[in-house]
Amino acid sequence: MEWVMKQNNLIKGIPASPGIAIGKAFLYKENKLEIDEKSNLSKEEEIERLVKGREIAKKQLEEIKENTLKKLGKDKADIFEGHITLLEDEELFSEIDSKISQKKCTAEFALNEAIDEYATMLANLEDTYFKERAGDLRDIGKRWLYGVMNEQIVDLSKLEPETIIVAKELNPSDTAQINLDNVLAFVTEIGGKTAHSSIMARSLELPAVVGVGAVLDELEDNQILIVDALKGEVIVSPDVETLQIYKEKREKFLKEKEELKALKDKEAISKDGIKVDVWGNIGSPNDVKGIISNGGFGVGLYRTEFLFMEKDSFPTEDEQFEAYKIVAEELKGYPVTIRTMDIGGDKSLPYMELPKEENPFLGWRAIRVCLDREEILRTQFKALLRASKYGKIKIMLPMIMDIVEVRKAKAIFEECKKELQEKGIEFDKNIMLGIMVETPAVAFRAKYFAKECDFFSIGTNDLTQYTLAVDRGNEKIANLYDTYNPSVLQAIKMLIDGAHDGGIKISMCGEFAGDENAIAILFGMGLDAFSMSGISIPRVKRIIMKLEKKECQNLVERVLSLSTASEIKEEIKKFMEKI
Ligand code: PEP
Ligand code: MG
Repeated sequence: MEWVMKQNNLIKGIPASPGIAIGKAFLYKENKLEIDEKSNLSKEEEIERLVKGREIAKKQLEEIKENTLKKLGKDKADIFEGHITLLEDEELFSEIDSKISQKKCTAEFALNEAIDEYATMLANLEDTYFKERAGDLRDIGKRWLYGVMNEQIVDLSKLEPETIIVAKELNPSDTAQINLDNVLAFVTEIGGKTAHSSIMARSLELPAVVGVGAVLDELEDNQILIVDALKGEVIVSPDVETLQIYKEKREKFLKEKEELKALKDKEAISKDGIKVDVWGNIGSPNDVKGIISNGGFGVGLYRTEFLFMEKDSFPTEDEQFEAYKIVAEELKGYPVTIRTMDIGGDKSLPYMELPKEENPFLGWRAIRVCLDREEILRTQFKALLRASKYGKIKIMLPMIMDIVEVRKAKAIFEECKKELQEKGIEFDKNIMLGIMVETPAVAFRAKYFAKECDFFSIGTNDLTQYTLAVDRGNEKIANLYDTYNPSVLQAIKMLIDGAHDGGIKISMCGEFAGDENAIAILFGMGLDAFSMSGISIPRVKRIIMKLEKKECQNLVERVLSLSTASEIKEEIKKFMEKI
C-alpha cells in the first residue's frame, strides 16, 4: 500500500454506497486485548465469567437491535436477532466449555480459539453467503470476549462531528450504531458490495468505499480524507486545490440528488411522447421504501430467494404470504413482479442439501430445483396467490430454457388456484404468470415462448453469461463478461421482437437496465419497462426524457452493424454526448 500513499495520496477501493464526503479520519482499531491462556481460577469460575460475558454481549445486541428497528426497520433488525441466536448457540457454548476443561485455560482463551476455528471454517467455504456469515460470527465473538474481559468496546454512536470511519471491516452491528449526524462516510480494508454493512450503507445513504487493502497502519487519526464513493477512491491529506475541487464535486452531487428528487412523481416519457415503465428491484419488503422514495412506479423483480436464505428452514406459506402481502400493499396497485425461488448457481440454502456440481450455473438451479421439488413451488404459488388479493402481483419463473418447463409450472399453478378456489380463498383471477428470459434457448424461439407466457423479463446478468459462455462470478475472465458484446445485444433484440410478435410486453430486470449508457439502445429496441436498484431510477428517468424513438432506432441499427463491444461503446458514447 505504501507506494499508493506516496503517489497522490490516493487509495483505491470498491464504491459500495454512492456519495462524496470530506472529513476527519477516525481509525477504528481494536484494542489489542492480552489473552492469557493459563487460568488461576477453577473451571466453574471460568464458566461463570463466560456466562457473564455472554449476558453483557446479549444486552448490547438487544440495544442495537432496538435502535436498528427504529432506524432501518424490521428486516435489518432481524440480522441482530440472528446474532443473538448465534450467541446462544448451545453447541458453540459446549465447545468452549470443553476447551476450558481439557486445556485448563481461561474463558477468553477458549472462546477466542473456538470462534476463530468456526469462523475460519465458514470463511473457507465456497459459498458467498457462508463466507459473509464468518464476519457475523467474529462480530459476536468479539463482543462476547470484551464482555468476559470486562473491557469497553468502542462506541461508534459517540464520535466527533464530521468523522470518516476507517476500519479493517465493519460488522453489521458497527454500522447500525453509526450516528448519521456525526459520521459522513466509511472506508474498510476488506469487504465487498454484497456484505451486510455495504447493503446497510446504501439504505442509510451513507457514502462508503470498501476493499481498499491494508491502510490502517498508513493513516493517522484526524487526517483529512476525501471519500469519493462514486469512483471508489479515498484521497488522504489533500492539498487546498484538491479540496476545493472535491467540495465543488460534492456540491454538484448533492444538487443533482435534489434535482433528481424533483423527478420523483414524474412518469418516464420520451421527448416524442412515448411512455415506458421504470420499476425497482428488491430483495426484501424493506427495500420497497427506497424504490418509492426514488420514484419507481412498481417492482420489476423481487428476488424471493433472500427470504429463503435468511431462515433456518423453508419459510412457511404464511410467512411467505406476509412478506408478499406487505410488498403488494405498499405498492398500492402498482405492479409487483415476484420471482419464484432462484436457488442454486452461486446461491444456496443453509438447510437444503444441494449437490456439489462441476458447473453449478449450468446445473440444478432455479426452476429446475422447483420442478423437481414441487412442494416448494406449490407453497410459494399458494402464498403468492393469497397475497394477490392485496395488490397487483405478477409471478415470474427464473432460468427457463424449455417450453415444457413453462407448461409444467403452469399446470401446478392451475392446481394451486383450484385448491384455493375450493377452499373459498380469494385471489386475483387475472394474475399474470411470466418468465425471466435469461438463456439463448429462449432468444432463438422467443415468439413461441411468448405465446405461452403472460410477459417476459430479461435477466441480462445471466443472459450475458449463458450467451457468451462466461461465468459471471469468475474474476479471471471478468474482462470477457460484457453485455455490450454484439451477440448479447442481438439476443436482447430477438427477445424484444419475439415478445411483441407473440403479443406480450417485455421488461428488463438485469443490471443492464440501470446502465445509463444502455438506455438509448434498449428504448430504441422497444423495451417496455426498465427495472433496477432504487438509486438508479431517477437518472434513468432523466435519460428517457431526453430521448426520441427514431434517433434511438437509428442508433440500434448502427450498433448492431458493428463487430465488437468497444466499437459499440464508442458509438453509444458519441450519441450520449449529443443528448
Ligand atoms: C439476471 O440474471 O439478470 C437476474 C436479474 O437475476 P439474478 O441476477 O438474480 O440471477
Ligand atoms: Mg438470473
